[in-house]
Parts: sequence; C-alpha cells; structure tokens
Amino acid sequence: MTKLTTQNEFIARHIGPRDADTAAMLELLGYASIDALTDNVIPESIKGSSILGSQPGLSEADALAKIKTIASKNQQLKTFIGQGYYGTHTPSPILRNLLENPAWYTAYTPYQPEISQGRLESLLNFQTLITDLTGMQIANASLLDEATAAAEAMTFCKRLSKNKASNAFFASQHCHPQTLDVLRTRAEPLGIEVVVGDEASITDASAYFGALLQYPASNGDIFDYRELVARFHTANALVAVAADLLALTLLTPPGEFGADVALGSAQRFGVPLGFGGPHAAYFATRDAFKRDMPGRLVGMSIDRFGKPALRLAMQTREQHIRREKATSNICTAQVLLANIASMYAVYHGPKGLTQIAQRTHQFTAILAKGLRALGYSVEQTFFFDTLSLATASKTAALHTAARKAGINLREIDSERLGLSLDETTDQASVEALLAVFADGKAVPAFAELATGVSAQLPHGLLRESAVLSHPVFNRYHSETELMRYLRKLADKDLALDRSMIPLGSCTMKLNAASEMIPVTWAEFGNLHPFAPAEQSQGYSQLTTELEAMLCAATGYDGISLQPNAGSQGEYAGLLAIRAYHLSRGDDQRDICLIPQSAHGTNPATASMVGMRVVVTACDSNGNVDIIDLKAKAEEHKERLAALMITYPSTHGVFEEGIREICQIIHDNGGQVYIDGANMNAMVGLCAPGQFGGDVSHLNLHKTFCIPHGGGGPGVGPIGVKSHLIPFLPGHASMARKEGAVSAAPFGSASILPITWMYISMMGGDGLKRASQIAILNANYIARRLEEHYPVLYSGSNGLVAHECILDIRPIKDSSGISVDDVAKRLIDFGFHAPTMSFPVAGTLMIEPTESESKEELDRFCDAMIAIREEIRAVEAGHLDANDNPLKNAPHTALELVGEWTHGYSREQAVYPTATLIDGKYWPPVGRVDNVFGDRNLICACPSIEAYQDA
Ligand SMILES: *Cc1c(COP(=O)(O)O)cnc(C)c1O
Repeated sequence: MTKLTTQNEFIARHIGPRDADTAAMLELLGYASIDALTDNVIPESIKGSSILGSQPGLSEADALAKIKTIASKNQQLKTFIGQGYYGTHTPSPILRNLLENPAWYTAYTPYQPEISQGRLESLLNFQTLITDLTGMQIANASLLDEATAAAEAMTFCKRLSKNKASNAFFASQHCHPQTLDVLRTRAEPLGIEVVVGDEASITDASAYFGALLQYPASNGDIFDYRELVARFHTANALVAVAADLLALTLLTPPGEFGADVALGSAQRFGVPLGFGGPHAAYFATRDAFKRDMPGRLVGMSIDRFGKPALRLAMQTREQHIRREKATSNICTAQVLLANIASMYAVYHGPKGLTQIAQRTHQFTAILAKGLRALGYSVEQTFFFDTLSLATASKTAALHTAARKAGINLREIDSERLGLSLDETTDQASVEALLAVFADGKAVPAFAELATGVSAQLPHGLLRESAVLSHPVFNRYHSETELMRYLRKLADKDLALDRSMIPLGSCTMKLNAASEMIPVTWAEFGNLHPFAPAEQSQGYSQLTTELEAMLCAATGYDGISLQPNAGSQGEYAGLLAIRAYHLSRGDDQRDICLIPQSAHGTNPATASMVGMRVVVTACDSNGNVDIIDLKAKAEEHKERLAALMITYPSTHGVFEEGIREICQIIHDNGGQVYIDGANMNAMVGLCAPGQFGGDVSHLNLHKTFCIPHGGGGPGVGPIGVKSHLIPFLPGHASMARKEGAVSAAPFGSASILPITWMYISMMGGDGLKRASQIAILNANYIARRLEEHYPVLYSGSNGLVAHECILDIRPIKDSSGISVDDVAKRLIDFGFHAPTMSFPVAGTLMIEPTESESKEELDRFCDAMIAIREEIRAVEAGHLDANDNPLKNAPHTALELVGEWTHGYSREQAVYPTATLIDGKYWPPVGRVDNVFGDRNLICACPSIEAYQDA
C-alpha cells in the first residue's frame, strides 16, 4: 500500500544525480558510499564540527503554505514615508518576462561577453538612462544602494580632489538620514571627518575635499545649488549630488549645474519597495574620472568581424588585479534591478516618464493647497513630490489618525511629519490624506483644489534639455513590442535555464521555482523599510527564523542580514573585528594577513577599514604555507588584527591545517575571518564557527539559492561568535543605532524568502546531502578530466572539495591554445566557461554544484574531452596553429553563409558533436575585442547614425 504521509520530493528535485547515478559515480571514484567519500574529503581535525540538526525538510506545498502564513503577518498600509523609497507599479510584462523569468534571473555577471549580449544591451540602456537623466557623461551599471553609492562617492572625491590638505567631507543635513549613517560608518576607519550641516551657511568651502547634496532635499525642498557648487569648485572640492531620477525628468539635472558625481536609487522605476531592497543604485560622473569609478561599466567594442559588440570595460574584475589598491570592493552589484529600471524607462519612454512625474507633482501640489486650506504650515515653497509639515503638538495624534485610516506618514521628529507621493498616488489617496488632516473639519473638495493649481517647481530649475531621445526609449511602448524585445535579448544569453554554468567560486546552483515564488508576493513587496515595526511582523518572523537557520548551518552565535553582497559582508565583518579590538584598547591592531590565493575583494575590503594587508604564501599543493603564516603572525604579533582566509580554499581543497591556522592567529591576538563563499562544500559537514572562525560572510546568492540575476542582487550576511555580536551592523531603526553598512536595516530583505524556503525544504539532512553531492560532482569531473587536463591541486587523499582547477598552462606551451580559447570554444558546445585565471593565471576553475545531473556533467566532460582532442590535433599539426576551431571560437551563424576559408569544416565549427543538432545555442557575436573597447570607450547607447557610420 502507498504510504499516506507526504514525501519530501524537493531534496531529490534540488539534487541533480539520481540514486543510480550517484552509485555509478562513487564506483568510478572507488568509494562504497557517499559518506565514505566525504569522510575522506573532510579533514580529521574538523570532522563532526557541524551543529546542523537533522530536522526533516518540508514539502514544496507545505513550505509555501507556511511562508504564506508568515507573509500574511505583514500589513500593507498606504505608505507616504518616502525618504528614498517610493511606491511604483512594476509593469506586468516586466514582472512576468524579466523579474520572474529564469532566462534573466539565473544568468551570471557578464564577464563572458559573447554569451551575455542581451543583458549587456539592457545594462547599456541603464547607463544611457542614467547619463541622460542626470546630465552626466558616464554612468556605471549599478551599485548596491543609494547610501553605499554615496559612501563610494565620498571616497571617490577623496581620491580625486585637488584639496589634498583636507580630511573633511561635507554632507548636507538635507540628505536622507540613512545615507548620513552609512557615510559615518564608512568615514570613521579611514580618518575622514563627516561634517553634517546646512549648506546655506557654509562659510569656508576650502575646509572640505568634497561634499554631498540631496536633490530634491530629503524634506522636499528644491534648492538651487549652482552658486554653492561653484564655490566648492573654487576651493578645489568635488561635489556629489544624490538625485531622484523621476524628479530629473522635470528639473535641471546635476550635470548641468556642475556636479562631479550624481548618484541615487533607481528603485522607483518599477522595482517593488521590498522592505528596503534589493534595488539598483546608480553612479555617474565626468568622463575624465571614469577610471576611478566604482562598480562595473558596460562598454561598446567590436567582435572578430569588426561588428559592434558589448562587454564589461576597464574595471572588470579590478579587485583581482589591483587588490588593496582597488577603487572599491564591489563585485556583485544589482544587475537584475538595474535591468528592471532600464526596461521601465524603455516601456514608458520619455513621454510616459514625464507624465508620471508631472502627475505625481500635480497631486502633491493639490495636496499642499488642501493642507494649507486646512490651516497647516507646509514648509516648502518649491517641491516635487515631498512635503514636510510643522504639526507641533498635533504630530503624534496625526500619526495615530493616519494609521487608523491605513496610512503611514514619515516621522521626521516629534514636531514635524512628512509625506511623499509617487506613481501609485491617485485622487482617492489625496482625499484620504486630506481627510486625516481635516481632523473632523470639512475636507476641501478635490475638484476645487485641482482647478487652478499650478506647478510648484522653481522656474530657474525647470529642465530644458530633452530626456531619453535615443530610439531604444521610443519604440517599445506596446506590450507586444516590449515582450518581444525582452525575449530577443534573453535569447542572446546563456543562463542556467539552458545549461550548466560551471563557474568555480560562484556556485551556480538551482534557484528553485518554489523558492522564487514568494519574492513577488505583495505581502513581501509592498513594505516600506521604515514602516512601523508592528506592520512588519511577517518580516520579523522570517528574519529571526532565518538567522537561527544560518547559525545552525555555520556554527556561529549571531547573524546580521544587513550586508547586501559578499563584499559588504566582508566589510561588516572586518568592522566588527576592528571594533572588538578597539573596545579592548587594542588600538594598534591594524594588520590583516591574507593568503596570496585570496579573492580580490578580501584585500580591497581590508583597505576600506584602514587595515594594512600582509600577503602570506601558498605552498606547491595550493595550501596556505603555515610556516610563512606563523612567521608573519609572530612578526606582527603586536599589530595583528585579522586573518582573512577562504575555506575550503580558493584552490578547491580542504586544508588539513585549518584548525592550527586559526589557533596561530588567536595566539597572536588576531581574529579569524573565514570567507564563506565556499560554504556549499561545508553545510552539514563542518562549521566555520566551530573550527576557529570568529566571523564569516555567506553569499546567499551562492550557497543558499538566491539567483545571481546577471550580476546581482546578492545577500552577504555575516555570522559571528558571541564576542562579536555587540559589533554587528546597527541601524537607526534597530536596537544598535550605529554602524549601518546598508541603507535598509535588513539590506535586501525581499529576497530572503528564497533562502528561508531552501533551508526549510531541504532540512538538516537534505542540506548535508547537497554538500556531499556537490563534492561528489566535483570529484567526478576531476576524475573524468584528469587524464586530459592536469588537475592543479588536490588534498593528500587525491580528492578535491566542491570545485577543481584545471591547468591549461602546459597546453598553452605545447599548442599555443590558451584558457581563453578553451573558454570560447565551450560556447560552441553550448556551455558557459568555467572561472578563468582565478585564483591561478592560466587555469580554469570548475564548480558543478549538486544541482547538475550526471547527464549534464557527462555532456560537459565530453565537450572538454572533444576540445582536448582538437588541441591534440593542433599539437600534431593536423589543425593549423592559428586558423583552428579554438582560436576562431565562438562561431556565429552568420559566419556560415558565404565563403568559408578555414582549414576545418563548417560542421566541425558549429556542430562538433551530433547531440548539438537537437538544441544549439548560437552566439550573436564572434569573439569580442577587449583592447579595442578600452581604447575607444563608449558607455552609452550610440545614436542610430553612429551605428550606420560604423
Ligand atoms: C564571490 C566571492 C566573494 C565576493 O562576493 P560578492 O557577493 O560578489 O560581493 C568573495 N570571496 C569569494 C571567495 C568569492 O567567491
């Protein structure tokens, strides 16, 4: 008889190999069971350190029902809080065809341009949108949030300002409070003094190297900054302006009044509030400063045939190259959200956007008139969408009345309140607001207020330049056109919905549909991050439960969910270490040991907290050289602050000496930061919080199933041991008021349901099984490929962890074929390349994850072996050293028509294995020329004429 209890089918859905496959793979490796395999991989000294229980996982249906109950505890009031977060309508075709579409959300950061032309085009549209609206010359492809973008602007000004004598940064009191908080956090370790004040009363501009202004101001005022900017410039200070994109459709853009940087949030362009994130921030500057810009930048280049092709320009992977001298530590940014914002602009076009702005402004003007008629003093003469009211002793009562009416207002202070209108405001909302403020008096009639109401924008600051005249913002205004444009772009790209993406260190695993479903529920999407706590009880339960789950998975005692990427987790973690040392009077501890194999974000982060990086060596087996580490720890004993170490190492090995390494650091007074990007090899098997780590970040967008979104969003929570809990990031809206590292208290809160769902459905045993299969899959690939490509490192047992590095350098020597050639040839086989040249130049790092089936692993191995055969043909002289399928890869469809002059056939070029006939990915461009692109940097959509000339 069939069992009547619900079976958990999810674990086997999440995991790729079937039981018979697992058995076959284990047999190839010579192990009797999966436990026997992983018992051999995990070093003796840390075995059994996991404290994850074996609680059973919920079925998909049960987990969805449970999270629905949690979600329903969030209350959705009509919110007028503003302060950088506004209501918006995500256009349905963008919601369905982009935000909820795996072709968009499962893609990786577009480092391989040939398979990324679709999202690169969308990001170029974003950059064009930003330069156009801000009036600046160049914009990047997104930053993490407005507050961190402002902090990046501060350090950017510091690097570029000619006023080298000053260490002071002026920040207007009219900036959003959360921006000021993050600025203070960032400034302190760098010795920068943030002076918050009223820009109207600045007497000596030469006291500052830079300044931050808000436009329109946080309280709603619109100030004319022209004269002020000129004064700062005369004093050699640079000026950054945090500006609202919707307002810029009507107002003179910062670029036209002299700003050196424009930054802000693109949230209100169709991205749900989501309790604070994820949202895309933007950053734009002058052309002359482009080389110092933080974040990723999309640029035009040409492909092998001289045709236009897009790629990431200059700063690509810059932390890996410039290490502690990098301009910023940002790696994962907010690509998916930038793409939503850019498509919102594509869909609405200049007319639509301007209309939304005008309507929002018009409703605000009507409301202001009504409030004045009711006897309120509206503080603004000029405003766009935000008003502040001096409500004196009535303030508290008004908040109460508003909440009774289902309305949230902004709590400026005990005597004033604020309100911001937005795209979702309609006549009924204005009437509801007036009813609250009427307090029993007759409500002024909307129609009467609306007659004769005039715009309240300052005449001298009305925008005169056109907005968004580029064709891309003027042709996709019907839903059919937009739907097809989204499909056309998605079809150009390879994402996880087409094939395995074997990127080492990046953990491209399944982002299950059941995990994704709650993300776009209104119960999670419609909450403002600063709504009163009683309205976010669902979020409060979700985050509390998630923190407990992550503590169990890592062996730590406390978690902060605030950092919105791994890099930001590193930053928060090092800040906690720094604060801990300071609290003990250990002010001199400023040295951070980092093994040479570390990810580039590690040294880049250490320098952001004012630490000095000392690099330690690795031995020939890829392990941290413990003798060197010990010598350096002892040499710097007095000043040792921390070690940053990745575990299992970026070389793909579980180092046996990890406990000893942690001990050496502790013995010398330092703290151990374990970079948790490789947590996918450890969950349920061993726990960094139990074998010596004091703090780790996790990349929820790697191990814990949040999709990469084409380069973001991410979540980079940190786990800490109990002694560091007091130093976790705070926020004005949390118990600890200081030390915010993100604009919102829970960072990218609205994607946390993904991880909650994953852990809930997998349960303790399922999570452990996932780690085991991840290790099995990696070892299976290593074993199948080792006779064709040398596997660079393995443990003393001959096994790798959850990823393996193939050494292409000997092949390069014997055949002239490079890692690039292998990576690009994989595209012809329908695969995304593995991680290239990290952590060792001339190598490929492969991480299959547990989600890939044996069929897919074999398909990949077969492709790699077929490529090796081609290389052998080059070595043997059967294929020309320069004109061969590897050097010319990837091959486009266009190349096949017309004359074929290569010394190999068309079939070999595009159908190297017969299985491809059934489903072939065609790259839209040939190999992209990187050098050309950097020499001729173009980072916005060129005009149609420029295309035609080319
Ligand atoms: C991915 C990664 C990081 C950076 O994380 P982001 O989320 O991209 O900022 C840091 N360290 C290692 C080892 C990584 O693989």
